Amino acid sequence: MKNIPTEFLDSLVKWFAYHQSIALKTGIKLNPRQIELAKALGCLKPDNIRILYVDDMPKVKSAVLREIMDQAGFNFGDAYGLCLGYGIFIKTDGQGDPRVLAHEMTHTLQFERLNGARNFLEVYVQQFLVYGYTSMPLEKEARLNEKLGTKILGR
Ligand SMILES: [Zn+2]
Repeated sequence: MKNIPTEFLDSLVKWFAYHQSIALKTGIKLNPRQIELAKALGCLKPDNIRILYVDDMPKVKSAVLREIMDQAGFNFGDAYGLCLGYGIFIKTDGQGDPRVLAHEMTHTLQFERLNGARNFLEVYVQQFLVYGYTSMPLEKEARLNEKLGTKILGR
């Protein structure tokens, strides 16, 4: 288990909380079929989830945080989805893809399972550093669940 510096985790948690709150305030609720998908995945509180469609993903402003993420090779700027707890960011040009939503909802489920942002982020970063993005268990689980999105939401 890698030791994550407290200051790094602190600023990550702050960043997460800030952008999650924006999604919760301005995002839209799930429609009935999306609720069905969330439940099928095992989300405990699908009613809490809000989706915010964006042209660009939230940026990391902290220079320190950005440098550490760059060094670790972590880049979500090109992703179609980003899950910050109950706030799910979906890129406008990827919004028709049910797999993206199923993937991000799986991270919501993991966030619930791990009891909140701090714990989720700690486990996520640890796994990222140990296994890398492709092989880390949290991402593998999310990828496995993508097909459920197509199954329930169609396409
Ligand atoms: Zn993911």
